[in-house]
Amino acid sequence: MKTRVLSILLSGLAYTCTAQDSVMFRKIADEVMLHGTCYDNLRVLCKTVGHRISGSPAAAKAVTWGEKAMKEAGADKVWLQPADVPYWYRGKESLYLKLDGKYEKVAALSLGNSRGTGGKTVEAPIIMVHNLEEFKALPESEVKGKIVYFNYLFRQDFIFTFEGYGDAVKYRGLAGSLGASKGAAAVIIRSMSTGTDDFPHTGGTRPYRDTLKTVPSMALGNKTADRLEKACLKGGVTAKMTSECDMKPNMVRSYNVIGEIRGSETPEKIVTIGGHLDSWDVGEGAQDDGAGCVQSIEVIRTYKALGIRPKCTIRAVLFMNEENGQKGGQAYADSAISKHEQHVIAVETDAGGFSPRGIGLVMPQAQKDKILAYRNLFLPYGVYDFTKEEGGSDIDPIGLKLHTPLAGLIPDSQRYFDIHHTDNDVFENVNHRELKLGAAVMAQFLYLVSEHGL
Ligand SMILES: [Zn+2]
Repeated sequence: MKTRVLSILLSGLAYTCTAQDSVMFRKIADEVMLHGTCYDNLRVLCKTVGHRISGSPAAAKAVTWGEKAMKEAGADKVWLQPADVPYWYRGKESLYLKLDGKYEKVAALSLGNSRGTGGKTVEAPIIMVHNLEEFKALPESEVKGKIVYFNYLFRQDFIFTFEGYGDAVKYRGLAGSLGASKGAAAVIIRSMSTGTDDFPHTGGTRPYRDTLKTVPSMALGNKTADRLEKACLKGGVTAKMTSECDMKPNMVRSYNVIGEIRGSETPEKIVTIGGHLDSWDVGEGAQDDGAGCVQSIEVIRTYKALGIRPKCTIRAVLFMNEENGQKGGQAYADSAISKHEQHVIAVETDAGGFSPRGIGLVMPQAQKDKILAYRNLFLPYGVYDFTKEEGGSDIDPIGLKLHTPLAGLIPDSQRYFDIHHTDNDVFENVNHRELKLGAAVMAQFLYLVSEHGL
């Protein structure tokens, strides 16, 4: 009986605490859904800057945009943090496949960081493999001088599509160097795509900058990939590949854009929220990751608009060079170390501006438990999944070097890999309510961590 009274008392206390938080959650959501500027900000980024690969003039323009947007959001302090980044450029490219006896031009994209054909045309027969095991089993003599087609299908049975991506992405990362290991002339891959369309997806390859051990690499959209698969089963398929892509010889000075609200009680403790400002050189980098950038800025704007004075310092960071080098994330961690900063948590939103479903947690169980105690607060906003260990590439370095707990927004994942890294990643494919709801959830989450600690 005593135990029961105590537990009622305790639950009463817990209720008082969460009731206040619940009121603040509602205020934050109302502010973002009714007055949020993140969608308008995204329009400006997408339509006036467009895609913005690291090192490019467009990336420099994006930095200027970010600095202005951060100031307009009302940050107490805005600054640029230097990061030297690689500059991979695409140039002209084309792929012709002889599928039905005559050559036809198909939609294809060179893979990021890859070395092209130097503008020359490589013409060779295609040899198809479905997976690494099949490739490994092939004798070198069968691969030499040919174009290897890695026809690995993005698995559709994973419900959380990031698992499918994790499973398939090695074919993008390794295809060029695998091809080189057996003397292939070039490689073609089926895109890392859940889509039923024909958009090819670019993306990073390894080994990074190691031009000696890789061969020209291109990706196909799923429709062309299906046709090529059928044709290869019959045999006699050849391809003509031409590309100019390469890495520029020198690194380029670029920047992370940082905006901050100084903490009211413990300003030395820092809570970071970020997305990445660079994108691949196709589409408009809307979902990947313009969405994360404008959501991070929205957190600052919302706190200012509501007069919230967080206990900890809140920082919004637009990281540079997530896609092909992670130099921005490294610069952020290195700066934190050199300045002996105290980081409570670093949070990233880089999984698209879709309806939020959860928050990934990369931290010891005791800290997870502290967050899980508040999970019911998120239910009215459709956020229920705290099981995934997902943070983000830009915050990985601070997690590794400073053991900072990490978290990541987990939006609904069904459409992300239809459009990620394609010409279809444009502003029109972002829904304003979903984008704002994600921003609201990030502002709510940061509020909790800043007020109650970890
Ligand atoms: Zn991204």
